[in-house]
Order: sequence, then C-alpha cells, then structure tokens
Amino acid sequence: MQYILINILILFSICSCSEISKKDEAQNNKNPNISASDTITQDTVLPNYPDISKEYLLGKINPENDSMFVEIPSKYCIMRKEYIHKDVLEPFIMMYEAAEKDGIRLGIVSAHRTFETQKWLWNQRYYNSSNPAGVAKVVLNYLAMPGTSRHHWGTEVDLMSTKLNFYETSQGESSYQWLIDHAAEFGFYQVYNAGRLYGYNEEKWHWSYMPVAKEFLKQYGEKITYEDISGFNGCETAKELMIIENYVFGIDTLLLK
Ligand SMILES: [Zn+2]
Repeated sequence: MQYILINILILFSICSCSEISKKDEAQNNKNPNISASDTITQDTVLPNYPDISKEYLLGKINPENDSMFVEIPSKYCIMRKEYIHKDVLEPFIMMYEAAEKDGIRLGIVSAHRTFETQKWLWNQRYYNSSNPAGVAKVVLNYLAMPGTSRHHWGTEVDLMSTKLNFYETSQGESSYQWLIDHAAEFGFYQVYNAGRLYGYNEEKWHWSYMPVAKEFLKQYGEKITYEDISGFNGCETAKELMIIENYVFGIDTLLLK
C-alpha cells in the first residue's frame, strides 16, 4: 500500500529527468577509487567518506544543491527526476547496461528520498490509535520511519516495480534472477532479502550499493540516537520498536560482517 502512495506521490511529480549530457555527467562522476575491472565484493568499502554529517544520514539535505549527489539521467528513471550519490551513478549505469544486453530493463522507481518525502509517505499511512507501536509495526512492513531509511543516503535504488505481483510474472522472475546472478558484480546487494529475523519484509526491488552504503551504515550506528528520530507522527514508538537495531541494521546478516 505504501508503494501505491509512493506512486501517487510520483504522479504528482513532473517527470522531468533531463536527457542533457548524461554521458558527460557519468564520465565526470567517474569514481577514481573503483574501475570497471575491479572485483567488487560485499567487503569492498570506498575510503573517501571520513565524516558523514548527521543531517545527511537523516535525509535532511537537499540533493539538488548538495555536492554529494547527482541527477540520474532520465533514460534510467521510470517515473520522475531522481538523485543518487555521485559514486553510485556509474556503477548503476554499468549494471543497467549489462542487464540491457541480456534483455533486462532495470529502470529506477525510486532512489534518494529526503526526510520530508519519507515523512509525507509515513504520515499518510500512520494513524493515531490506542496501540501506536502496533500501527507503526504494520507500516514498517515495507516503509521506513523518516530519518531511518537507507534511501536518505543516495546509495539505494528501487528497481522496476515495487508491486509484489510483478515478481510473480515471467518478466519479474527473470529480472530478479538476473539481479541475483549479477548485481554483486557491480556492487549492488539485496539488503532486505528473505529469511531475516528482524526488519522490513522482503523487498526484491530494493538494491544497495554496498561499497558506499556499508560505510554510511557504520557511521549511522555511531552517530544517530533515538533523540534524532523525531518530527513525525508516531516517532515516540521508535525506541520501543528498536528501529535502529531491528530495522536500520535489520539487513542481510552476510552484509553486516
Ligand atoms: Zn527501497
């Protein structure tokens, strides 16, 4: 349901991804630390993020004027203008083009989200009740509390479709299988996989660029406390539900090593 809400939000947005000089943009944002021939594993961490601000980690920045972000060329976006961390664009394009050669289209449904966007999505779903933690827990099946979403970091992409039934179609099955087989070659991992004990439901569409995200998660754990998770309906339930431990860190345990 929350992704229906995302789609509603998207419908209200103007699809205005710019086609202008996308190749140049990708070239200009080439990551000097990783080349196409490097083998990226789940242990790969880029070294150039010594101190990420709390505001960044909480999504309280504007990607349009933040030097850490670039606009994603429109051919890769399904719905609207999207921003991504500058070191994630090139690996994503490499993955996209490799998939395209195999007949798979990995269009982006959602990339970076600000705290305010996440708050809008959250407050649409959360409602007051005598059991606020119970309500929050249901919303949390697929949607993060504002300030706790990995989408704030610009390292995450929701691909193709966030509708569960898409992954039951032959196109959805073959596309997901391609990601399982190849995404790690480009540094992307399914953080919300099946079989975890804590956190969100499985999300076959959500892929994380671990060489950057791994460091951001580490710094999130070091810097963010429950006092920082506030400013939205039901935020008082965050501590009781152990949002940081169970949801922010509730990813594939192999990626926590
Ligand atoms: Zn996502």
